[in-house]
Amino acid sequence: MRYDYLIVGAGFAGSVMAERLASQLNKKVLVVEKRNHIAGNAYDEFDEHGILVHRYGPHIFHTNSKEVFDYLSQFTEWIPYEHKVLAKIGNELYPIPINRITINKLYNLNLKTDEEVKNYFESVKEKRFPILNSEDIIVNQVGKDLFEKFFKHYTKKQWNLEANQLSPSVCGRIPVRTNDDCRYFTDKYQFMPKDGYTKMFEKILNHKNIEVILDTDYKSILDSIKFDKMIYTGPIDYFFDYKFGKLPYRSIRFEFRNLPQVQYQETAQINYVDESVEFTRVIEHKLLSQQNSDTTTISFEYPQKDGEPYYPVPNEENRNQYLLYKKETEKFKNVIFCGRLAEYQYYNMDQAVANTIKVFEDL
Ligand code: FAD
Ligand code: UDP
Repeated sequence: MRYDYLIVGAGFAGSVMAERLASQLNKKVLVVEKRNHIAGNAYDEFDEHGILVHRYGPHIFHTNSKEVFDYLSQFTEWIPYEHKVLAKIGNELYPIPINRITINKLYNLNLKTDEEVKNYFESVKEKRFPILNSEDIIVNQVGKDLFEKFFKHYTKKQWNLEANQLSPSVCGRIPVRTNDDCRYFTDKYQFMPKDGYTKMFEKILNHKNIEVILDTDYKSILDSIKFDKMIYTGPIDYFFDYKFGKLPYRSIRFEFRNLPQVQYQETAQINYVDESVEFTRVIEHKLLSQQNSDTTTISFEYPQKDGEPYYPVPNEENRNQYLLYKKETEKFKNVIFCGRLAEYQYYNMDQAVANTIKVFEDL
């Protein structure tokens, strides 16, 4: 069988690209996925207790892009969902992103206006210039104490690096607020796919020109299929047989537990920002999909070095190593590198979709 395109990976990048090529250009596409399911890290499924769980950590869809929202809306209905996260320090819970409620509770204050909170941050922040890393970006806004309480240990656990060894963009993902908005994201569109992500991916990939093979590393079939072009969404260092060394990717061990109680925690996500707790966060899955059930399933996240590569690790050293690989891609005119692992970019889902659509349009 001859294909126009071989697509490596059935996550957002691979699946959206397959859909575009098949539906817009009538191309014959083979998608090869090494795991035993589609949807990449957004994969969800019902566990044995009937609860929809996100197998690779909580995936909350949020975007300001109408284009991305409209595109995905062809494949799913949505339920409104605004994510809220609490950070646990000792036995107390505080809103994260840091906001007025966080400050008042933590320091026993009674700040009433945005202006008062702004003045508070002014009085505690340490000027850092230029902003070179993830410590600078937080300390420059809220000072050392808040940095140490909410960011220092969580960051060390998540990345096994100090915040000052990571690019500002990592902790810079988390805003600092002067109001009492407790939502994790403020994007215009915040939803969960009504029947889950996997169902949405089934629809994305449901096209007569698209064939999907699971449980298969693309390298094992290269000799047995014919194709004109490849879209590669796996780790870029693997493509090149690690010729410039292994790029650091961060992994996580997810430990799932079902409990015989209706609800375990106040919000879908609680971040354990203390040094003394080994895991980073606990997710209560039914609260993401707003499912009713007599029991509840939670998952603990233990970051680790080895295992499935979930996160690129953003800092200058890794970026330089990635650029060696990127330069090498120029020699492969028939391969397009796209997605979080192939571009070594800490993309959210909407960014992965927007980027893939752009790559498709530039083909
Ligand atoms: P992936 O989903 O990683 O897909 C790549 C696919 O390629 C994988 O399925 C992989 O198995 C396959 N592959 C790799 N190598 C090979 C090979 N050799 N042969 C065949 N197949 C191969 N984003 C949000 O917007 N909101 C969130 O709340 C959110 N939460 C997240 C939580 C966690 C714990 C993680 C890890 C990510 C989260 N994300 C979130 C980010 C989101 O998962 C990514 O933006 C998205 O998955 C990127 O899609 P992708 O296709 O680039 O990569
Ligand atoms: N972070 C932190 N404390 C928190 C939340 C986030 O230190 O309570 C830092 C940490 O380094 C984390 C980064 O900010 O990796 C980005 O957080 P986000 O919640 O966006 O991470 P993701 O959901 O992508 O794992």
